[in-house]
Amino acid sequence: MECLNKPHVHVRDREHVERILAKMVADGPNKLQVVADFDRTLTKFTHRGQVCATCHNVLEEGGLPEEYKEEAYKLRDKYFVIEVDPNMTIEEKTPYMVEWWTKAHELLMKYPLSKAMLHNMVANSSARLRDGCIRFFDSLHSNDIPLLIFSAGVGDVIQEVIAQQSTLYDNMHIVSNFIDFDENGTLIGFKSDIIHVYNKNENAVHDSDYFPNLSHRTNLLLMGDSLGDLQMANGAESLEAKLTIGFLNTRVTESLALYISKYDIVICEDETMDIVNNIVSNILASV
Ligand SMILES: [Mg+2]
Repeated sequence: MECLNKPHVHVRDREHVERILAKMVADGPNKLQVVADFDRTLTKFTHRGQVCATCHNVLEEGGLPEEYKEEAYKLRDKYFVIEVDPNMTIEEKTPYMVEWWTKAHELLMKYPLSKAMLHNMVANSSARLRDGCIRFFDSLHSNDIPLLIFSAGVGDVIQEVIAQQSTLYDNMHIVSNFIDFDENGTLIGFKSDIIHVYNKNENAVHDSDYFPNLSHRTNLLLMGDSLGDLQMANGAESLEAKLTIGFLNTRVTESLALYISKYDIVICEDETMDIVNNIVSNILASV
């Protein structure tokens, strides 16, 4: 596949990737399912030189009082260093991540947030789907390929971003932190258990029938931008082929070797979905 020869695309084991891709092409769309992270995987890291908002950033960027923003930043300053600390294990980091998400959700509950506000906050935010994401969603939808979007962000923000910038289709299933709104559309809490960066695995797919129901779809494409994303498809047990694509959006020099050791394909500093669309269209071309 021509696109894998580009200088910013790194393939760990070319023979392995070519074998997997050949199988996916031969088996076609009916055997395929896709699992993707949201922030910085389906969305951009930067747009025209500016860092784009993640789901949580959307809430910090506007609409809520300044004091919310300050408190949210304080939490981020405290816990983000732990999230990315290369000297700590995931087991050591996990309790801090639970603490961070719990405090962030509690903080949000102190302020009146409605569905209508959320709609405007997304519309005014710097969150951007990657270029080519519309084509990606359209082609998965028109070929009935299930897409699981698995995110430690905020499900309601994800739905708004997709609905406003593309189309929220019925082949998409979003597993994330969803806000519990009361009958007046005001936030009263969060539904179900916290999904943070390090528990994005089968335990967090509360809809535990998801992967078993797709057991006939034995080929899986997984896309993420952090190493925790690699666990997202652990619940899929009857797989015959799995291809993992990692977006390395920043600190390429420091992280490239690690990413290549974990992901089959690593795409560096690319704000588009072009490589993925190329791979998908090859798989769909067999129809
Ligand atoms: Mg991400």
